[in-house]
Amino acid sequence: MSTNHNPFHMAQRQLDEAAKVLKLDPAVHELLRWPMREFHVRIPVRMDDGSVKVFEGFRVQYNNARGPTKGGIRFHPEETFDTVRALAAWMTWKTAVVDLPLGGGKGGVVCNPKEMSAGELERLSRGYIRALGHYIGPDIDVPAPDVYTNPQIMAWMMDEYVRMKGGHEPGVITGKPVQLGGSAGRGDATARGGIYTVREAARVLGIELKGAPAAIQGYGNAGQFAHNLASDLLGMKVVAVSDSKGGIYNPAGLPFAEVLTHKQRLGSVVGFPGAETLTNEELLELDVVVLFPAALENVITEGNAGRIKAKIVAELANGPTTPEADAILHERGVYVIPDFLCNAGGVTVSYFEQVQNAYGYYWDEATVHERLDRKMTIAFQAVHEAAQRHRVHTRLGAYVVAVSRVAEAMRLRGWV
Ligand code: GLU
Repeated sequence: MSTNHNPFHMAQRQLDEAAKVLKLDPAVHELLRWPMREFHVRIPVRMDDGSVKVFEGFRVQYNNARGPTKGGIRFHPEETFDTVRALAAWMTWKTAVVDLPLGGGKGGVVCNPKEMSAGELERLSRGYIRALGHYIGPDIDVPAPDVYTNPQIMAWMMDEYVRMKGGHEPGVITGKPVQLGGSAGRGDATARGGIYTVREAARVLGIELKGAPAAIQGYGNAGQFAHNLASDLLGMKVVAVSDSKGGIYNPAGLPFAEVLTHKQRLGSVVGFPGAETLTNEELLELDVVVLFPAALENVITEGNAGRIKAKIVAELANGPTTPEADAILHERGVYVIPDFLCNAGGVTVSYFEQVQNAYGYYWDEATVHERLDRKMTIAFQAVHEAAQRHRVHTRLGAYVVAVSRVAEAMRLRGWV
């Protein structure tokens, strides 16, 4: 589904639009258009066949005016420096929109984890920290999972950091297994936060969600849990889901547990009994009430935005909609819950994890859910209100809220 859109150019264009609305000071604007600091590393890894393969890794610390930079590490064969820069910019807006005392960062490694053994993945994860361990830390920059990284990888990374530095430092990384200081409720936090924002959007739009059809593009951490929670918490009927191999559709609804088992057994949702097969492109254009893009960037473009039939687009993925598509969706009255608001639940519970690590006292799941709900609901209201006040689309509303918070922090620090 990839197109020629460069995600970082897209992130800069979004910021430029917000700068106009906010009449942003030119120096503030210039500073926010670029990462403050970035790292480009080579990581030698001993492969199982005895050869050494050299991997390319990135870490971008975009802006730390509001606190230590924070954001995941993605393992992906098509990872680029500009993708990481864009994702780091979006993390800056994400932590600001939910009002966490954090900045934005992101990391990535060009690799294909699907073709690597557990041992190779462990050596790569440890190699990434050996290359960058001196430049991260609980008060500096705190990584987390993203596409194709998981709690086990976070555990290896945390362990490698502690081997370098000594002591006990669980707060250097979040999304850890709960046995090693991970937070209750981190697993489904991205999807859960998104579901809370869908609930709020439906409320302001006067849409009934019970029994209403939903479609989910992407079946990784966010997509899978969205399937479960859209039915569990909102009573929606999930009629279509997809992964990188294709999608499945059943107007009567797709049962979560069975679809997940099928995916775990066969590596894809495709072939699920009793469902029609459809492409990712077809899934996006289904006549549903809520569409969840939950995979990668650039899937809603000027090419298909005119055919999106959903009333609400809930962006669990980062960067799924291009600026051209934003304008088209807005004009057509499609309500977009923008990525860095919709998927902020993950980093919000990551922040809860850091807090729990810092004082060594752990919350139960109900407490995490309640605090996450409060954060997401307040953020949704701020964004919705800003979009209405400035008469702009919701993504621009979210930028207005986030950018003004980061700009204010830079001003108070005396940077600009
Ligand atoms: N990678 C996730 C995101 O894009 C989570 C980041 C974090 O928990 O720090 O928001």
